[in-house]
Amino acid sequence: MRALVTGGAGFIGSHLCSFLLNKGYEVICLDNFFTGRRENIKHLTNNFNFELIRHDIVEPILLEVDQIYHLACPASPVHYQYNPVKTIKTSVMGTINVLGLAKRVKARILLASTSEVYGDPTIHPQKESYWGNVNPIGVRSCYDEGKRVAETLMMDYHRQNKVDIRIVRIFNTYGPNMLKNDGRVVSNFIVQALQGEPITIYGKGLQTRSFCYVDDLVNGLYAMMNQDNYIGPINLGNPEEYTIIDLAKMIIDITGSSSTLQYKPLPPDDPTQRQPDITLAKNILKWEPKVNVKDGLSRAVKYFRELLNEE
Ligand code: NAD
Ligand code: UDP
Repeated sequence: MRALVTGGAGFIGSHLCSFLLNKGYEVICLDNFFTGRRENIKHLTNNFNFELIRHDIVEPILLEVDQIYHLACPASPVHYQYNPVKTIKTSVMGTINVLGLAKRVKARILLASTSEVYGDPTIHPQKESYWGNVNPIGVRSCYDEGKRVAETLMMDYHRQNKVDIRIVRIFNTYGPNMLKNDGRVVSNFIVQALQGEPITIYGKGLQTRSFCYVDDLVNGLYAMMNQDNYIGPINLGNPEEYTIIDLAKMIIDITGSSSTLQYKPLPPDDPTQRQPDITLAKNILKWEPKVNVKDGLSRAVKYFRELLNEE
């Protein structure tokens, strides 16, 4: 079995590459290193079954593979808003390119979609049947609408060309290999806490997110790819839901930091609540998260502590 992981040098992709190599796969990691790091996959480069290709998925590519995990796309608001036109090109043209590849070589393809397709949800928790509440012209749309189109493309290639697809909607995931300047809440708070800097709370901090540890997520991606009953979309996330203030307090507690809370303006269109309904994943994939948020955060703190000590 040979798998292509686009975005394989990124946070989730690097864990997925390791996981698949451990399962005996040949793995091709494709990345343009926009937010990915060579360090994330350094430990894999001596593995005979691992290949690394520097490539921008906006350009077509032809490879012989059996399965494609399509993760290439910046995921942090800071990074996807840095060059929004490039973000939407990555989602739309990138997904067309990997779907063309899947069609040609008859590979099964899994799209890493996102809970952002639900936008600022009016239904709570979010079920897959909910169509979402996305601002089509806001600063988050390059990412949200990009992923919505990517889902559309997956479904249309499936209906029109019989491409074998899987769609996964990932909810906020965290863990080792996130960039320290990634900009997402967990890495920001941990790095700030470890450096004794103020913890930056956007808005009142009463907005909620549900946080999934990366190992659980990777197990879910693998389970979804390797079952024959359901093409998706399926939610993958940890239903443990926290306000951003509670998350900050937990991280201060775990790190033993003396950091204070600093309130900053809420970015536009920031969703007020988010929690996955994972009934489908439980029933179809027999999957559910195993790592509770406190334990997962402790592991992430250990990673960032070592990373900061190395500098
Ligand atoms: P990440 O930014 O760490 O990883 C994305 C990877 O894609 C990086 O290695 C980056 O260099 C690469 N990339 C970006 N544009 C590319 C391009 N044009 N061509 C080739 N490579 C490109 O983010 P992540 O958290 O690991 O997210 C991985 C995937 O999962 C993304 O598609 C993201 O939308 C999705 N996702 C993640 C989360 C989360 O909480 N982490 C939640 C929902 C969805
Ligand atoms: N957030 C925050 N401080 C930060 C970074 C993020 O309060 O330093 C908030 C952000 O406004 C949002 C939540 O944390 O409400 C999650 O943000 P993130 O960028 O991690 O993910 P997303 O908004 O895409 O779910």
